[in-house]
Amino acid sequence: MPTLKFAVLPGDYIGPEVMTEALRVLEHVAKSAGHSLDYKIADVGGAGIDNHGKALPDSTLALCREADAILFGSVGGPKWEKLPPAEQPERAALLPLRKAFSLFANIRPGLLYKDLVDASPLKPARIPNGIDIVCIRELTGGIYFGQPKTTITLENGERQACDTMVYKTSEIERIAETAAVTARARGKRVCSVDKANVLETSVLWRKTVTDYFAKKHPDIALTHMYVDNAAMQLARDPNQFDVLFTENMFGDILSDEMAVICGSLGMMSSASLGTGVNSHGKPFGLYEPAGGTAPDIAGKGVANPCAQVLSAALMLRYSFGLADLAAKIEAAVRKTVTQDGVRTGDIAFGRPSVGTKAMADAIIANLN
Ligand code: ATP
Ligand code: MG
Repeated sequence: MPTLKFAVLPGDYIGPEVMTEALRVLEHVAKSAGHSLDYKIADVGGAGIDNHGKALPDSTLALCREADAILFGSVGGPKWEKLPPAEQPERAALLPLRKAFSLFANIRPGLLYKDLVDASPLKPARIPNGIDIVCIRELTGGIYFGQPKTTITLENGERQACDTMVYKTSEIERIAETAAVTARARGKRVCSVDKANVLETSVLWRKTVTDYFAKKHPDIALTHMYVDNAAMQLARDPNQFDVLFTENMFGDILSDEMAVICGSLGMMSSASLGTGVNSHGKPFGLYEPAGGTAPDIAGKGVANPCAQVLSAALMLRYSFGLADLAAKIEAAVRKTVTQDGVRTGDIAFGRPSVGTKAMADAIIANLN
């Protein structure tokens, strides 16, 4: 039975609180399947700055390099907000990690259980069965990183700034592959989002995606949509999608829109897959809740641990190839929240609520 070796970076505010519970859930599910966990915990973000003078301490990065995956909490908060932008915990920890491991694919499940439709700003009639889609965002290319990226002063004294959107076929093909693999385990439908009526990069994107699916995944139903329409369709009828995937900036915007329509941040997990292959022959990845450090509720023991627990499930699925154990955790979370109605305050809607630990206890009880 394999040993699951991963780095644990809890981060700040509620990060360590929800991480403790995610680790308990992992211990339990791994043990029941005969796997052993081999993890070490390290500082990152504000904790890195406070204890090592750096948001991503060298020792933390070294630990990540030895591991097969990173289970990440969340970083940042009011304590460090006076630092210059480049030293802010989020930027100074996550960007170097993305770079170090070439984390090119950000996968966000847009999951809203039927019983929680009240958490969504959408009318319940539009989402009678909740929401169950996945949004995949390209994370290392596009206009955020393309060169040139400049600000100049023109002859008339006016200032002019420029960003450049750049994509290579290899970058498009590898994110198309992530979308295909994700769709294969679900509804086998993929919608590729671009702006091919205006952008050169999108013309290349659409052609590359079309050719790639025709050649490698002909059995998966591929459609294309312009990003402006996708933003509208997501708000109108999210479940028309199964897996949608798109370039960096479009994905940044669409994945946040999806998070909003799915309600509580406390339920939203994410995976960022790297180009590297780990010792299990699977993608190295970083797994983290989609929400932030929730400073407003930190230290009270009331944070929802589900986003962290579900992120751990994604780690089992993508970086360790343990889809069955991932599904077991996901089912336990669903049962706890819906059937048992055991909920933290963010999803209780005025009903009695439980704390972080009690919620995790209930999830663990439902693993059996
Ligand atoms: P950041 O700058 O890190 O995004 P923030 O102040 O915007 O910090 P978020 O973490 O993004 O805080 O949270 C936004 C809101 O969602 C807050 O009210 C927070 O309490 C809530 N929230 C986020 N995560 C959770 C969670 N796990 N459980 C309960 N509520 C949460
Ligand atoms: Mg926020």
